[in-house]
Amino acid sequence: DSGASSNAARANIQVAVRCRPFSQDELTKSDTPILKFTSPNSLLLRQSKTKGSKQYTFDHVFDPETDQAAVYEAVVAPSVEQALCGYNCTIFAYGQTGTGKTFTMEGRRDPESGSFEGCAQAGIIPRTISSIFDVLESSNTEYSVRVSYLEIYNEELHDLLGMTVPPPPLRIFEDPKASTPGSMTVHNLEEVPVTSAADIYPILARGQAKRQVAATKMNASSSRSHAIFSITLHIKESNAEGEDLLKVGKLNLVDLAGSENIARSGAQSKRAREAGLINQSLLTLGRVINALIERRPHIPYRESKLTRILQDSLGGTTKTCVIATVSPSELNFEETLSTLDYASRAK
Ligand code: ADP
Ligand code: MG
Repeated sequence: DSGASSNAARANIQVAVRCRPFSQDELTKSDTPILKFTSPNSLLLRQSKTKGSKQYTFDHVFDPETDQAAVYEAVVAPSVEQALCGYNCTIFAYGQTGTGKTFTMEGRRDPESGSFEGCAQAGIIPRTISSIFDVLESSNTEYSVRVSYLEIYNEELHDLLGMTVPPPPLRIFEDPKASTPGSMTVHNLEEVPVTSAADIYPILARGQAKRQVAATKMNASSSRSHAIFSITLHIKESNAEGEDLLKVGKLNLVDLAGSENIARSGAQSKRAREAGLINQSLLTLGRVINALIERRPHIPYRESKLTRILQDSLGGTTKTCVIATVSPSELNFEETLSTLDYASRAK
């Protein structure tokens, strides 16, 4: 029954929109809001006097007052549960630079302790790690938790945690031992074992610092790169017959390049391409998500590094969530319109 299966595909891809509060800079120029939050899953975008408002519906709509804990509970907690059961899940932050992708994924540290621990502003990554350890530490299982942090810039891969100097070039190859056919492995990518939630803070700080340094060195903006933070769980359980069962789950938490880096229309000018304004991975991600939702026979995973790397975590029995971030201000109308349209096509 294709109707039921397409509903299942839909249920496995969730789309949320999060609007941040006005920034100081926006407030000094214009404090006119263009978004109206009409329900927990709908909003109105004010276009113009003549055109009126455009209504959008998503799985979740988070207004500027929604805090980090609420975002985590609504969209991330179900994926963490799945990963603990041995499934692969991916959460993307998509949106214009400056709208809160990094705030949503990582969040802010407590200014006094410099830590994410117990901090209301902590984002998805620290919350995910701490709830994974809460569950595992109180369970009666043997487990291991490993993390990796990978950056994709201009279709090149950089290890944000690697210790090797000079950094070895990272290549991807098809893993013959992988349980999912066609699944890719990044060769030489550092996988750091984590034994408690507190381990993660210095690891995250190291990754962030490296992302910044790499961007400066290449004279580029980190807004053009994707950062993929992956958590791999190995959990050994005994069943009633005393046999060991190994569950392997994976969570990918992805801070995407700024959406202003993709062309508005499908047709891209040669000049834009040369200027590096078009981000192959960002474009392909949109096409992959559309193809999955429409249940097309061909999913174009192979057309970008991002989708090749995440192939075993996108589609099939995996759960995917896109959190599209927007600004509330009329100053960013064009980008907000484009983000909301991208996000609603992903539905
Ligand atoms: P991006 O990663 O999309 O470029 P950032 O996460 O760096 O954007 O956010 C830009 C600024 O807005 C930062 O100072 C960030 O702390 C702030 N900000 C973003 N989202 C929120 C939010 N929901 N609540 C409060 N401040 C936010
Ligand atoms: Mg950012």
